Amino acid sequence: MRIAVYPGSFDPITNGHLDIIERAAELFDRLIVAIAKNPLKKPLFTLEERLDMLRETLKFYPNIEIDSFDGLTVNYLKAKNAQVIIRGLRAISDFENEFMMALTNKKLVPRVETIFLMTRAEYSFISSSAVKEVAMYGGCLKGLVPEYVELKLREKFRKEGC
Ligand code: ADP
Repeated sequence: MRIAVYPGSFDPITNGHLDIIERAAELFDRLIVAIAKNPLKKPLFTLEERLDMLRETLKFYPNIEIDSFDGLTVNYLKAKNAQVIIRGLRAISDFENEFMMALTNKKLVPRVETIFLMTRAEYSFISSSAVKEVAMYGGCLKGLVPEYVELKLREKFRKEGC
């Protein structure tokens, strides 16, 4: 069985993430979308809120599992018996950091592969941080995030929708 892990902050999940998830789920028997509990990051949404948004958005995909983990991604992969890390690439600016992470993970556990899926052109500009900024100032979130996430962002910032 081919198992892949798509790790990230998902603060919150966007349509860009969703596109990568749908495509990765087609390629593997099982895809685990896992929130990395990075103590260095200050997320807007709590871990529980982010898990809830992932669960709600991905509830109709039979081969997708939602989870969270502490510590190194490669250790999490071992625990889950997974071989592949999925990451999305939007622009050249993503490359340097992703390249460094992929090489570090390869050094730690040589049998682990990182597979990059290129964003779809129409999602290439979407990031969780831009989405949060739009939401904070009451801008229209249609097409940027799943509807459930739109609702949660509006609740968080107490802003009306469009
Ligand atoms: P992290 O904090 O690990 O970067 P994110 O939740 O921001 O977590 O992103 C997780 C992964 O999804 C990263 O590989 C990132 O490059 C990718 N990603 C984010 N937004 C998009 C998008 N719009 N299109 C494709 N990939 C994306």
